[in-house]
Amino acid sequence: MRFAIFGDIHANFEAFEAVLADAKREKCDRFICLGDVVGYNADPQACLAIVRELNCPVVKGNHDEYASSQCSLETFNPLAESAIRWTRDTLTPEEKEFLTSLPLTTNVESFTIVHATLDSPGDWGYVLNQLDAAASFSRQEAQVCFFGHTHSPRLFVKDGSVVGFPLTEVKIESKKQYFINVGSVGQPRDGDWRAAYAVYDLDSKKVTLRRLKYDIEKAQTKIRNAGLPVKLAERLFLGR
Ligand code: ZN
Repeated sequence: MRFAIFGDIHANFEAFEAVLADAKREKCDRFICLGDVVGYNADPQACLAIVRELNCPVVKGNHDEYASSQCSLETFNPLAESAIRWTRDTLTPEEKEFLTSLPLTTNVESFTIVHATLDSPGDWGYVLNQLDAAASFSRQEAQVCFFGHTHSPRLFVKDGSVVGFPLTEVKIESKKQYFINVGSVGQPRDGDWRAAYAVYDLDSKKVTLRRLKYDIEKAQTKIRNAGLPVKLAERLFLGR
């Protein structure tokens, strides 16, 4: 079994297309979505339609929640706030219902998936260092858990001995526990604008991070044409 594991698509259709084409070339036969299908970029409906068509396990991201609820956006930075308002206005009630119904965490085969952290998945904390990872590990039963949210690919091992950054290819060793961030499809923040996702080969126990160029100009033009903040288009190329 070969899994394509992706998250933080953030309504970037061009990046998502590139990832799915690569997953096909990589002969992935299963798909996993780590949440934040929508938010920031201009194609929430197209990206959502693809995820639903794949009929794969999906967990809820914070942007999926913000876009599908009427929660207050008072404490948000202006960029995120206007993107969420735009997405709320764009999605249909039925699409919002789908996002609302997503679980915060779920198990797939031998591993677990979550958007942010296992210790408090609905609080949307960021796992940026070993200390943050330790809190999540305290609730991790499976050997491997995949997550997103920070938009930076990174690999944590429970014994604290290894932090892969950036993650490239890792062999899952028995007796060790892993918390693996696969980066972001639609808005990477590790200084590399290319779309990120991971391939997990369950038989060889290897996790490989893939980076893909995509038609970024097209995605940026759509953002401008949609009336979303221009800064959201500019940041894509900065990988921030
Ligand atoms: Zn995100």
